[in-house]
Amino acid sequence: MDTGRLSLGRVSSKKTAGHKVAEVPEEESDSDDALLATALPRVNGVAPLVDSEEDGFGEEDEDSNDEWEIDSLFEDTLEEMGDEHLFEGEPNACTLEEAGAFRQQLRTIGPEEFCKRTVEAGTISAKKLLTAFGLRPPPFLEGSPDDAYYGLLSLAISRELSKRIKLPQYNTVDDAVELIKKSNNIIVLTGAGISTSLGIPDFRSKDIGLYSKLEHLGLNDPQEVFDIEIFRQDPNIFFSIARDILPSTDRFTPTHAFIYLLQQKGKLLTNYSQNIDNIESVAGILPEKLVQCHGSFATASCVECKYQVPGETIFPDIKAGTIPRCDRCIANLRALRAPAAMKRKRSQNGHDKRKRRFDSDADDSSEEDYDIPAAGVMKPDITFFGEALPDKFSERLTNHDKNLVDLVIVIGTSLKVAPVSEVVPYLPAHIPQMYISRTPVSHVNFDVDMLGDCDVVVAELCRRAGWDLNHEMVPKNQKVDIRLQEGFTSRHIFTVKQ
Ligand SMILES: [Zn+2]
Repeated sequence: MDTGRLSLGRVSSKKTAGHKVAEVPEEESDSDDALLATALPRVNGVAPLVDSEEDGFGEEDEDSNDEWEIDSLFEDTLEEMGDEHLFEGEPNACTLEEAGAFRQQLRTIGPEEFCKRTVEAGTISAKKLLTAFGLRPPPFLEGSPDDAYYGLLSLAISRELSKRIKLPQYNTVDDAVELIKKSNNIIVLTGAGISTSLGIPDFRSKDIGLYSKLEHLGLNDPQEVFDIEIFRQDPNIFFSIARDILPSTDRFTPTHAFIYLLQQKGKLLTNYSQNIDNIESVAGILPEKLVQCHGSFATASCVECKYQVPGETIFPDIKAGTIPRCDRCIANLRALRAPAAMKRKRSQNGHDKRKRRFDSDADDSSEEDYDIPAAGVMKPDITFFGEALPDKFSERLTNHDKNLVDLVIVIGTSLKVAPVSEVVPYLPAHIPQMYISRTPVSHVNFDVDMLGDCDVVVAELCRRAGWDLNHEMVPKNQKVDIRLQEGFTSRHIFTVKQ
């Protein structure tokens, strides 16, 4: 089993290899089709693919690298246009109705025949057909002959075919409530959206918060803050911003409370969280039901000797913006420092005494003049780019959850970051899946979409289920307005009634 190098979700796919969840049989190949010949290394059933924020993953071996990089070039050009835009009747785009018909046709007759009847027959341009699959024709191809769009169309088609098909029997909010009430092994996938109501920044977002603070650090890519190689070279970069992502430790959101409630009712199979704030633990989610896919601040480890301590141990250093050092390394180094060796070293250095590199035992002033080897830096056990993902993730998913799960609830994540993005396509397609977040996604077909503030959505679901979600951030007698988004049968918009 390969280990993923990818974690906190990077934008540049070049440096990531990604994490493969499990062996998945090769999908029937249509790659001999002329149009599809430009083809897609990752039409293997694993990949939900793709947009400009998407991570690379699912690489099979070294040989696929070239293809994979070409593919990712395409991916970088992709701009999702959500189905809601289709409905708004953009010029030169398919209507939502047309898009639905094309998607249906593709599944019914297969990609080869589909291409024959559409682009090859000249009934629609490849450029316009792209929009039926939720992709906006990229500006750099504007004015090109239509066959310039074939590569992208091929990508769009394979992406569409790799999508799970929505289950037609679940559509309404009450369907969602019934599913939650009757299910006993629920997988909850969570992301940054469930913590933002506590003011914890979504550090993956380029637009807000953290990354704007990073420009002064002179990084090429702000995500380099979370690159393990860069951390090893200069931990200052990470520790200069670490205080900004250090979680508050005593509060949790109504959404965390909802997941805890599922656990209390014996319904929670596993909470896979992309968050590193460890608030799930604060809310009472049991360690055995929690997989923090990108690690967390709950513990910290020495990068040299792997000595692990509770995360709080290094919080004072993080808050002070200083680099925490490993106590065990320091103790070992002190023990090794025989007087003779020190004397020799001192005379070697002579008048050219270098300044001590580290200040972690600066209180020990009698030894201040000695140049000691480095004590390891303590790094929070959040998974950096270049580090393996926690083993627990694929282990639990493949050996435990896959055969037990009876409902999937995705909350507060756009599911674009591996490994969580791979959970949904990996699970059996007949297991109902619902989505709770502010903005819809178009690369996954959920059975019920519930859009809005996730704290509001879960509170309303609990109210309808007759459950008591007692949380100080949920006003008593909160009235929630739910409307069906026009043109959709299962997309509901939740707002608090004023
Ligand atoms: Zn150490």
